[in-house]
Amino acid sequence: MTKNFLTLNILAVFICLTLSACGSRDNVSAETRHFAMGTFVIQRINHKDYNEISQSVIDRINQIELKMTVNQEGGEINALNASAGKESVTLSEDTLYVLNKAKEYAQLSRGSFDVTVGPLVKAWGVFTDNPRVPTRDEIQRLLDLVDYRDLDIDSDRSMAGLKDSGQMVDLGAIAKGYAADEAIKIYKANGVQSAFISLGGNVATLGGKPDGTPWKVGIRNPRGPEGSYIGILSVKDKMVVSSGDYERYFEKDSVKYHHIMDPKTGYPSDSGLIGTTIVADASIDADALSTAAFVLGLEEGMKLIESLDGIEAVFVTEDKKVYITQGLISSFEFKDESKEFEYVQKR
Ligand code: AMP
Ligand code: MG
Repeated sequence: MTKNFLTLNILAVFICLTLSACGSRDNVSAETRHFAMGTFVIQRINHKDYNEISQSVIDRINQIELKMTVNQEGGEINALNASAGKESVTLSEDTLYVLNKAKEYAQLSRGSFDVTVGPLVKAWGVFTDNPRVPTRDEIQRLLDLVDYRDLDIDSDRSMAGLKDSGQMVDLGAIAKGYAADEAIKIYKANGVQSAFISLGGNVATLGGKPDGTPWKVGIRNPRGPEGSYIGILSVKDKMVVSSGDYERYFEKDSVKYHHIMDPKTGYPSDSGLIGTTIVADASIDADALSTAAFVLGLEEGMKLIESLDGIEAVFVTEDKKVYITQGLISSFEFKDESKEFEYVQKR
């Protein structure tokens, strides 16, 4: 739970931190904070009904979490996992949509993004109070269970199934992205024109700030203390999602083990990237891609991002270089207070 608090600071947003509403009666801008999906959810909504709207968003996020979580009992993904190797289960539109997207990104990244990493995530236990380093034999055995091609989705019948017993889907790398997109839908349905939501490492924006200027999103210094940044992105109507080895990890015998698995090795990804940020029009895409690129590494990750329309990225390497895609040149400001990083605009 404590670590979840930390994830809040992955992307700090330079918005006023007052909890009170400000503005005229019809143009009220306010910030609300809730705890949902294992993280703090900060919303800034420029609308007189901000309270009701932010609550609707939280209700929707809780609904999505109930369906997709593997960290508490019940829900659709737990049912899918429990029926692995036996039968398909009926799923809601929400879950089918996310599973289809997950498969699409697994194919695009040739398995670097793979939601069937569930058995590995569970074995490493990075999210539990008792994380551990599994033996090589155990990892080898579990790797046999990891293969997105074994996730069979029948959208016409609203069903999905896993081929082998023991296989497990974990939507930790994509569900928050979906939730952020759903939040934006709720803002729009309520006539909101300026809003911002931060769900752990996922930031989604609607329009610009109430004064019309872009939202500022800080890109975390992966090697600095919480609240330290290597740059700032200015965005309007964009989704900004980050993945990093600093988000969740444990230490054993002075070695750090983080939460993003390389589905090819069964160990925490060691691609040379320590932080990835994706800017896109849909948060679900940005979320899947931030994880995919993190595992793919600089070369392959860049190649993937540059092959996709409307997707931009900031990559931070372990040798402390910051790379951005061409499309971010005017919206990314390199600002490294640690003076340890080198800015490489475009490779
Ligand atoms: P993110 O913070 O979005 O990069 O997602 C990381 C989370 O997704 C982890 O905590 C796991 O639950 C899950 N995960 C880990 N490795 C992968 C992977 N290679 N592909 C898909 N999901 C993963
Ligand atoms: Mg992700």
